[in-house]
Amino acid sequence: MIRVLVCGAYGKMGREVLKAVHQDEQLSVVGAVDIHSGFADVGSLIGTEKIGVIVGNDLDTVIKETKPQVMVDFTNPGAVLNNLKIAIRNGVCPVVGTTGMSAADIAAVESLCRTSGVNAIIAPNFSIGAVLMMRLSQEAAKILPHAEIIEMHHDQKLDSPSGTALRTAELIEKSRGYLKQGHPQEVEKIPGSRGGELSGMRIHSIRLPGYVAHQEVIFGGLGQTLSIRHDSISRESFMPGVVLACKKVLTVNGCVYGLENILD
Ligand code: NAP
Repeated sequence: MIRVLVCGAYGKMGREVLKAVHQDEQLSVVGAVDIHSGFADVGSLIGTEKIGVIVGNDLDTVIKETKPQVMVDFTNPGAVLNNLKIAIRNGVCPVVGTTGMSAADIAAVESLCRTSGVNAIIAPNFSIGAVLMMRLSQEAAKILPHAEIIEMHHDQKLDSPSGTALRTAELIEKSRGYLKQGHPQEVEKIPGSRGGELSGMRIHSIRLPGYVAHQEVIFGGLGQTLSIRHDSISRESFMPGVVLACKKVLTVNGCVYGLENILD
């Protein structure tokens, strides 16, 4: 059994991860952490009997007490880097779903992994359908280089654009390079109405109650458009990817960024 600690245990994703890890035959929930000090038994969060694992509020202490091999982090952009540092310092391999980390943060984690010999997996999207959407978008951009990304999430999400949208834009950029899109003299009557810009392409972030995580990449060509869309209609969609990462993180080489790099 691989010993797993979940950080962000009271969160929407944290609860789903606790349930998935608890149900998996090769994984075992040994620890749970959140900044809230509710001290609930994990069983009350996942709808089972008590499992004897209490949610603590100090990551370093809980790691020392429960000796996990893997820490899954679904917290927030302001907390994740410090959590990763604590895990790696204690020899625990992080599996990171929290989005909003900067390129400098990711480089810092890669460097920590190199010097400590501790592995990590960071994935802005753990759903396999979303990985396919990104892969197909990268392919389409070779032929149809003009693209815009519309991502839709629930209105409690802190960062925008989403980690998935940023990753998609990076992959499209790899295919087509920088390309300034739209009319060179276009004017925004309301600032921001054309969305954010990365490598000349526009990214639009919608935040509304009712959404989970959705993205459409629209490619435009002569007299035609092509839409590639993925919808996570429940948080269960991320769990096969998270469970796979928990199993693979002990044997990957250093810090791996992107679920696509651990799919066979
Ligand atoms: P959420 O419901 O707000 O849950 C986050 C939880 O972490 C909250 O209980 C929060 O407490 C807690 N927390 C904050 N700082 C902490 C710390 N230092 N140590 C321990 N716990 C801490 O958010 P969510 O919807 O679960 O999403 C969590 C993250 O996952 C977000 O970054 C989201 O974008 C990302 N996400 C990624 C994927 C993927 O596939 N990679 C999929 C969905 C979501 P407070 O409420 O007090 O802040």
